[in-house]
Amino acid sequence: MLEKQVLRRIQTYVRPFRITSGKGFRLKDFDPGDTCGLKMDKGEAAELLQRGTEWLADEQDMLYAQDRWSLLLLFQAMDAAGKDGTIKHVMSGVNPQGCQVFSFKQPSAEELSHDFLWRYVKSLPERGRIGIFNRSYYEEVLVVRVHEEILERQKLPPQFVGKRIWDERLADIAHFEDYLTRQGVVILKFFLNLSRKEQKKRFMKRLEKPEKHWKFAPSDVHERKFWGDYMQAFEQAIRATSSRQAPWYVVPADNKWFTRLVVAAAIVEVVEQLGLAYPKVDAAKKKQLEAARAALAREK
Ligand code: ATP
Ligand code: MG
Repeated sequence: MLEKQVLRRIQTYVRPFRITSGKGFRLKDFDPGDTCGLKMDKGEAAELLQRGTEWLADEQDMLYAQDRWSLLLLFQAMDAAGKDGTIKHVMSGVNPQGCQVFSFKQPSAEELSHDFLWRYVKSLPERGRIGIFNRSYYEEVLVVRVHEEILERQKLPPQFVGKRIWDERLADIAHFEDYLTRQGVVILKFFLNLSRKEQKKRFMKRLEKPEKHWKFAPSDVHERKFWGDYMQAFEQAIRATSSRQAPWYVVPADNKWFTRLVVAAAIVEVVEQLGLAYPKVDAAKKKQLEAARAALAREK
């Protein structure tokens, strides 16, 4: 258990960015440069983050031992918003055996031959595990919505490709998440909210550093032309799929240290509320343990 005071401090960094109802949600009300008035130096932020990740590592051990809940953390963002770095930092203390990361790229021919949720369902975390989706089924209402030629490749019967297709997909996603919740999957959805200006800065930096060139795709720059369309698609997705049980976190992403802090804080808050504990052993098991101890003690 966390001290109440620590938890309260954590909550102050999470609450402003958590969306539990999409009604009236507008992306432009959220500033990508927001830091909640915090002017921490990097060392301080790193220390706080480290405490959060150590705590998470302990909790993850209990999650695994309890074998009841699973945690699904999904990350969506424009390029260079820091998905990879955030995942790396926030999960750094966690036992790799209890945690799996899946990155979703352009679908394969096999994946295109199935319904759109198929490939994501296959990668859901088992009970007791933490699953991380680096991109997710939300791509189906983001990139596919912005570039409708991708939709054609999905080979849907034409009568299901109407004007309402995006609203229908969003409703399907919301229902899917309700279903998962009732199966014990705790869902947290992170939108790393980067400004167009900061993206340009980060692309320029990548171009300056040879060791970052592999990360650079010319198509990334091309996608900037569709920035407005993407933001609209994000806004509509967040509106249609924010709920108490599967909230969106619109995380300011222009300052990496703050992004990591908010994501870690959000996970800590939710996991804390699960009230995880190691399974209690019953009287019969206690007897077994006692017998085992006695047997070991007798060994020469
Ligand atoms: P990096 O930070 O390394 O660039 P990335 O997540 O951007 O990581 P990429 O290989 O660059 O990985 O890009 C994956 C691409 O796949 C993205 O452009 C994304 O929009 C696209 N993609 C993901 N899911 C789908 C989908 N269902 N249909 C079509 N395109 C998709
Ligand atoms: Mg990319």
